[in-house]
Amino acid sequence: MTGEPREADVIVVGAGLSGLVAAREVLRAGFEPLVLEAADRVGGRILTEEPLPGVFLELGAQWIGDTHHRMTALADELGIELYPQFEDGETSYEFAGEVLRGEAFHGRYAEDVAAVERVLRELDAMAATVSVAEPWAAPRADEWDRITVGQWYDAQGLSPVGRELLEICTVGILAVPTVEVSLLGLLVNVVTCGVTADLLSESEGGAQTQRFVGGTAQIPLRLAAELGDRVVLDCPVLTVEHSAESVTVGCRGGPVARGRQVVVALAPTLAGRIMYDPPLPGKRDQLTQRMPQASAHKMFAVYDEPFWRADGLNAQLISDVGPARMSNDSCMPETSGGPGIILGFLEGENARIEGRWPAEQRIEAFREELARHFGPRAAKPELVVEGGWADREWTRGCYNANPGPCGWLHFGEALATPVGPIKWAATETALEWSGYMEGAVDAGVRAAREALAALA
Ligand SMILES: Cc1cc2nc3c(=O)[nH]c(=O)nc-3n(C[C@H](O)[C@H](O)[C@H](O)COP(=O)(O)OP(=O)(O)OC[C@H]3O[C@@H](n4cnc5c(N)ncnc54)[C@H](O)[C@@H]3O)c2cc1C
Repeated sequence: MTGEPREADVIVVGAGLSGLVAAREVLRAGFEPLVLEAADRVGGRILTEEPLPGVFLELGAQWIGDTHHRMTALADELGIELYPQFEDGETSYEFAGEVLRGEAFHGRYAEDVAAVERVLRELDAMAATVSVAEPWAAPRADEWDRITVGQWYDAQGLSPVGRELLEICTVGILAVPTVEVSLLGLLVNVVTCGVTADLLSESEGGAQTQRFVGGTAQIPLRLAAELGDRVVLDCPVLTVEHSAESVTVGCRGGPVARGRQVVVALAPTLAGRIMYDPPLPGKRDQLTQRMPQASAHKMFAVYDEPFWRADGLNAQLISDVGPARMSNDSCMPETSGGPGIILGFLEGENARIEGRWPAEQRIEAFREELARHFGPRAAKPELVVEGGWADREWTRGCYNANPGPCGWLHFGEALATPVGPIKWAATETALEWSGYMEGAVDAGVRAAREALAALA
């Protein structure tokens, strides 16, 4: 953007789902939004690729769950159909050097799995005492924010297999090792999703039940189309000058937009990289110093057909070896007759270590792993498509961000508290389903309403 700064009522920084929803809310209320996006596309952590005609691979967000009402309504409004995640069949487990199908695994390790269940119920009881709006005020917040999830898991008397199973499933949600998040942080994750600790179990507690026909990226694309030239791409925001009455937002090259309110719809770490004038309160800045983006890397193996289904398998694996610790069936709708697709997840340390191997080495290890679980045909995908997020300049990791120990206790209050005309969006600031698309919508609407209230 060059020339005179553009004027708008509310400037929105970031054209991810949260920013786009915020801008739409402002427009619907009869005010003018202007969205400034650093990348050359909209969608942020939503990214669909189509390597073969009609084959949509979600490098970013893929599923919604049954209680994601905002997303269901949004898809309906935008005319995007949903289809169910394929679940039928047994999961394959690889523990202690042995690959076992679901029934055999649960038979062999019945006591270990029952002990994990007991730990999940204990987490439920603890989560019931935590308010997502004020986690730091929970009766035992002080104690729980000072220890890590890993420390607490270690103290539960689990067998090595039970402990590892719990680690894999928890890392499947947090995308960082459990030593990096406080116990209170995990409980906040449970509470914000309004489910039980089953969120951490193998089924992911209903967060992954449906997908979008034609790809998730249609959602941000259609939202951006509604906003038209109110969305400006290739405009990385570097500065926000603010006073009680106005904001001036600068991208590379100088000031580009003036408005009365600004919604910053970026993950906290990225929001902390903008230069604010006057500077933000110390508490807010120290919060953004303590909310690192997590680490995940997706690997898709594409076959001519979903051959595992005939074998009674659901393409899900859980492995203590890797490189993928979990996987699932990632096919197009069953009616489409499309190819077979297995998605492997490298999360936490696997994303950081195996995710940095040369691609050839990683793909070879992935093919061997799939063959151990799903038979020799799995070793020969027609295509492997993969991607991580740490190298993406405007995201720097995923799925989301959690504060480390003492983060909620000392800094959590600053997460969504406005600073004058600056309102904070992005999924991390949501009260419901924080970390998910559902949370991005929740936060976008809330931040827009805060800005609108200030305008009024
Ligand atoms: C691999 C992966 C898998 C996922 N799976 C799921 C799933 O299955 N289900 C689910 O619900 N959620 C999933 N998520 C999470 C989901 O994608 C996010 O919760 C959601 O998309 C976040 O939206 P947001 O708008 O809050 O943030 P973002 O999408 O991060 O949007 C922020 C935007 O701001 C831009 N930006 C950054 N810095 C600047 C700057 N300085 N100036 C201007 N613009 C800037 C970015 O380019 C981006 O477009 C997944 C995420 C990833 C990456």
